[in-house]
Amino acid sequence: MLIVLEKRCPEKIVSNVKNKVRGLGLRCKLLQLGDYRLLLLSGFSAPFDPGALKATPGIKEIVDLIGSSLLLSSRAVKKNDIVVSVGGVKIGAGHFTVIAGPCSIEDERTCLQAAKAVKKAGAAIFRGGIFKPRTSPYSFQGLGEKGLGVLRRVKRETGLPVVTEVMDERSLDCVYDTADLLQIGARSMYNYPLLKLAGKARKPVMLKRAPYATIKEWLFSAEYILKEGNSDVVLCERGTRSAALADCNTLDLGVMLAAKEQTRLPVIADPSHGTRKSDRVIPMALAAAAAGAHGLMVEVHPRPEHALSDGKQALSPAAFKTLMMRLRSFLQ
Ligand code: PEP
Ligand code: MN
Repeated sequence: MLIVLEKRCPEKIVSNVKNKVRGLGLRCKLLQLGDYRLLLLSGFSAPFDPGALKATPGIKEIVDLIGSSLLLSSRAVKKNDIVVSVGGVKIGAGHFTVIAGPCSIEDERTCLQAAKAVKKAGAAIFRGGIFKPRTSPYSFQGLGEKGLGVLRRVKRETGLPVVTEVMDERSLDCVYDTADLLQIGARSMYNYPLLKLAGKARKPVMLKRAPYATIKEWLFSAEYILKEGNSDVVLCERGTRSAALADCNTLDLGVMLAAKEQTRLPVIADPSHGTRKSDRVIPMALAAAAAGAHGLMVEVHPRPEHALSDGKQALSPAAFKTLMMRLRSFLQ
C-alpha cells in the first residue's frame, strides 16, 4: 500500500499521517522521489481498508500496489523525469551521456590508455568491470579487489566518474567507496537480494535488462531498488538473443522505448553487448540515439584483439572517436 502525499506537505502534517498509520498497527517508510514524497506501508496482518485513512489531511492518494500496475518509477506517480547524477555527471531528460571503457579492468597501463582515449573523445563516465560474470568459469573473472586501485587511479588522472559491476554483497562492499555508479548486470536482474542491497545503497544504480526479460520483469526489478528508497536508477537495454543471428544479439529499441514511456527513469542503450560485434556497434549506437536513448554504454579497448573479455565487440579508440563525432553532429 502506498500513500502519495500532497505536494509541499508540511512536516507536521506528514508526522500526523505517519502517527495515524502507526496507530493502525502498520509500519511506514518515507520515500523521496524527486520533489514528491510517498509513504510505503507494510506490516499488514489482515486486509486493509484504505477508508481508515481517507479523511486524513496531507494524503493525495492511497494506492494498493499488490496486483496494481502502478510502480514507484511510473509516470502515474509523478510526471517529471528523474535525472540521475553520477559523480556530478547527469543522466536523464535533456542530457545525452556516454559511458565508455573496456569490458574488464586488465592492468593499469591498458586501463589508463582506454580512459584517456575515451575522455578525449568526449565520454563522460568511465566503465570497467573488476568483478566479471562470465559464461565459462574458465574465462578471466576480473581482477577483483586488486582492480580497485586501477579504478581509483583512473578517477584521479582523468576526473571521470566510474561505473563497475557488483554481483553480490562482497563485491558491492568492495567497490562502494570507489564506484560512482553501481552496475547490476543482465545476469543479476533477477537477483532480488542483490537488488534490495542496491536499493539500500546511497549510490546510483544502473540496471541492465536480462536477455528475454519482459518490460514488466525489468521494471519490477527496478522497483526492488526504488522500494528500498533509492530512486537513482538508470535502466540499460543490452540486447537479447536473436534466433536469426546465431552469435549476435539484437538491441531491443522497442523495449527501450517502452521503458521510456512507462517510467521516469533514464534509459540508456549498450550497443556493445546489444550486438556482440564491433562493426555493428556504431550503427546501433546511432539508432539508439535516434530512438531517444538518454545515453550509451560502449566497450572500448586500446587493442580489442588482445582484450581478456568481450574483445569482439569492443571499439578501438579510433572507432570510438568516429562514433562520438557522428553522434555530435547527429544530436545537435
Ligand atoms: C558488461 O557490461 O560487461 C556485462 C557483463 O554486461 P551484461 O550484464 O549486459 O552481459
Ligand atoms: Mn562486457
